[in-house]
Amino acid sequence: MRIAITGTPGVGKTTVGKLLAKELNLPLFNLTELIKEEGLYSEYDEKRDAFVVEPKRLKDFFKDKGSFVAEGLVAHYLPSDYLVILRAHPEELARRLLPRGYSREKVEENVEAEKLAVVATEALELGNFKRVIHLDTTGREPREVVELILSAIKEDRELFEDVDWLEREGFSP
Ligand code: ADP
Ligand code: MG
Repeated sequence: MRIAITGTPGVGKTTVGKLLAKELNLPLFNLTELIKEEGLYSEYDEKRDAFVVEPKRLKDFFKDKGSFVAEGLVAHYLPSDYLVILRAHPEELARRLLPRGYSREKVEENVEAEKLAVVATEALELGNFKRVIHLDTTGREPREVVELILSAIKEDRELFEDVDWLEREGFSP
């Protein structure tokens, strides 16, 4: 079973990925680390202090991997049985990112991306999955998110929670 976990930085991919891989006893890949260690990038983006993934190399790496949990901002490039898209309210996302020592600018960039559903939209458009699990992590414990994912997988069904951060009351853009 191939599980990919994607979403804006701070939504909880790494936290949820670790718990899920442990529950399912599957190997876990953190794509940010993997891309760097295995040289699956085309260039280094100095401004963003990040390696730019080369999708073909990434896909090739996973070709013979069998079952896994892969988590990262580009996880939706991988063909998967379940694509988990995690979401978080922009205000909560900012609260999670600030203690990481991210600059104001970097926090704003990610908050904007989450508000506009940039990652989710790209992931759904690419459609590299059999089933999609789209979850709101706001106000939930990681454990609860993992339980929801496990129950969807167990019943082999899609789980799609609607979120629209632009429509929520009390949200000031
Ligand atoms: P990402 O890998 O997507 O950048 P991380 O897992 O590194 O995200 O960080 C998410 C942060 O948000 C962690 O500090 C985690 O404890 C916190 N968090 C709070 N609620 C949740 C939740 N429901 N699911 C996942 N993470 C959560
Ligand atoms: Mg992470």
